[in-house]
Amino acid sequence: MSRIAFIGLGIMGSPMAVHLATAGHAVTGYARTTVKAVPLVAAGGHATTSIADAVRGAEVICVMVPDSPDVHEVLAGAKGVFDTAEPGALIIDFSTIRPDVTLELAAQAAERGFRLLDAPVSGGEAGALAAELSIMVGGAAADFEQARPIFDALAKTVVHVGPSGSGQTVKAANQLIVAANIEALAEAVVFLEAYGVDLEAALRVLGGGLAGSKVLEQKRGNMLSRSFEPGFRIDLHHKDMGIVTAAARKAGVVVPLGALVAQLVAAAKANGDGGLDHSALLRGVERLSGRADKEIS
Ligand code: NAP
Repeated sequence: MSRIAFIGLGIMGSPMAVHLATAGHAVTGYARTTVKAVPLVAAGGHATTSIADAVRGAEVICVMVPDSPDVHEVLAGAKGVFDTAEPGALIIDFSTIRPDVTLELAAQAAERGFRLLDAPVSGGEAGALAAELSIMVGGAAADFEQARPIFDALAKTVVHVGPSGSGQTVKAANQLIVAANIEALAEAVVFLEAYGVDLEAALRVLGGGLAGSKVLEQKRGNMLSRSFEPGFRIDLHHKDMGIVTAAARKAGVVVPLGALVAQLVAAAKANGDGGLDHSALLRGVERLSGRADKEIS
C-alpha cells in the first residue's frame, strides 16, 4: 500500500481518489474547492488546502486536472509538486493534455529527481465510478510496473503503450473516435425523430447490431431524457479536439472527419453549451436542422 497524494478532485478525480482509499492506500487529496474532498474523507482519506501539504511524505502523486496549463501549474508552478514533493516520488498524470507538454514536464521532472507517467483515462464518469476505466500509459516500464496496483484499483484495462507522451497520443486518438461517434449518434437521433420513430425502441435495436457502441450504451439515456448534466464537458472535448487536430498536423497526417467534428464541438461551445455533457452535441444538430426549440431537463 502506498502513501498517495491526489491533486484535482473533480468529476473524475474524486471517485478515483475514493477507490484508492477504499483499496487501502493512504490518500491525501488536494482540491481548490474544498467541498470536493468530502467523498474522499468519507472513504477514509484526508483533505488538505495546499499542494505542499498533500505531497508531504507521498511516494506517489496523482494529478487529475483539466488542461495542459493546469498540469503545468500544479507540477512546475511556484509551491507546486516539483518545489515541494520528496525527490524520487512517482508522479502519475491522469489528465488529458498535449503530448508535447507531457514531454516537457517529464524532462523537468527527471531534472528535479522525479519520475512522471502520463496515464490519461477513458470510460467517462461511469467508468471512474465503477473503477472500470481504460488507462493508456506512457513512460518507463519500471515506473509502469510500480504504478500497477494503483491502476488496477481504478481500471479494467491498463496498457503501457510506450515511452513518455505515448499515453497522451493514444488518448488524443480516443477523443477523435468518441467525438465522431457522439456526433453520428446525435445525427441519427434527429433523423429518427424527424420520422416520428419510437426513439427508445430504435436505439435499443441499434445497440444490438454493428451500430452498437459504448457511446450508444452510455449516452443514449442523456439523449432520450435530454439531460446533459456532465459527465464530460463540451469545454473539455473542445480542448481535446484541439490537441488531436494540432498533433495530426504536426505529424503531417490528415483527420478530415476529426477536423469537421472539432468545428461542431467548437460551435456547441460558441452557442453556450460548453458546460454541458458532450452528448449535448445533439443540440448542435438540432440547431442546424431548425429544430432547436426543445427543452433540456
Ligand atoms: P473537472 O470536474 O473540472 O475537475 C477538475 C478538477 O481540477 C477540479 O476539481 C478543479 O478544481 C481542479 N483544478 C483545475 N485547475 C486546477 C489547477 N490549476 N490547480 C489545482 N486544481 C485545479 O474535470 P474532470 O471531468 O474531472 O476532468 C479532469 C481531466 O480528466 C481532464 O483532463 C479531462 O479531459 C479528463 N477526462 C475526463 C473525463 C470525464 O468524463 N469527465 C473522462 C476522461 C478523461 P475546482 O473545482 O476548484 O475548479
